[in-house]
Amino acid sequence: MVADNVMSLTFSLPQWQSFKAGQHYDIRLTAPGGYMAERSYSIASSPEDKGIVEYGVQLLEDGEVSPYLWKLAEGKQVEMRGPIGGHFIWDVSVPGPLILIGGGSGMVPLMSMLRHHANHLDDPPSPEGFGEAKREIVFMISARTYEHILYRRELERIGSQDRNINVVATITDNAPESWSGYKRRIDKEMLEEILGKYKNTDAKTFICGPTPFVEAVAKHMKALGFKSSDIKTERFGG
Ligand SMILES: Cc1cc2nc3c(=O)[nH]c(=O)nc-3n(C[C@H](O)[C@H](O)[C@H](O)COP(=O)(O)OP(=O)(O)OC[C@H]3O[C@@H](n4cnc5c(N)ncnc54)[C@H](O)[C@@H]3O)c2cc1C
Repeated sequence: MVADNVMSLTFSLPQWQSFKAGQHYDIRLTAPGGYMAERSYSIASSPEDKGIVEYGVQLLEDGEVSPYLWKLAEGKQVEMRGPIGGHFIWDVSVPGPLILIGGGSGMVPLMSMLRHHANHLDDPPSPEGFGEAKREIVFMISARTYEHILYRRELERIGSQDRNINVVATITDNAPESWSGYKRRIDKEMLEEILGKYKNTDAKTFICGPTPFVEAVAKHMKALGFKSSDIKTERFGG
């Protein structure tokens, strides 16, 4: 479990193909009578983790595919098609600060980007003097409760160990009494406070989560003066 309602599933692939952080696969289930259901799932693992893909699947109790995936026995096979997606992708060769904003399970592809960055921390700097060790990253998380924050332990560890990575969470429904962070939905003021200093830089922003979340955050970012061309979005539906 990577959050109360999200399960991590790792598959080994008979034909593994390299992918970009941010991409997804389509998983197809076929019932004995031939009925098929297909859904997209983002890759949480890093492109450097060769041979496997890891997903983070949120359980929708009345859903068709996510409850099935939650019950999959170890060793079971599923049909997968991918990697898919040429827009919502990030690679360490792209210079500049990285801003990741995830709502709920929208954190999954952002985690792939963060892990990809972590795998390149020891790379020598490029001729322009740019290296992963110096890249500034902000990871903004919106979750309903503390227990709904995906990859919480991994992010707490990264945030406390790397001073170039700023992990900021807001809890929208039921924050614990001890919670000293934000307790509301992401709004323009919050974005200004946390990201204002990146406004006139070459920062790249990735926003992912339920469609209304993504649309609201992207609108605020543009209103703050971030260039549309530097903002990429992925909508999970809902
Ligand atoms: C590019 C892409 C990447 C995705 N990556 C992930 C991922 O990494 N992890 C993940 O858990 N999901 C991800 N999704 C969502 C996933 O594809 C499914 O939509 C989700 O798992 C629900 O499928 P289901 O068959 O269980 O539910 P369905 O049978 O499709 O729907 C059940 C009910 O839930 C509602 N619903 C459907 N999708 C959502 C949603 N995202 N949020 C809230 N309510 C919803 C429906 O309206 C319906 O009422 C991604 C979607 C896209 C387009």
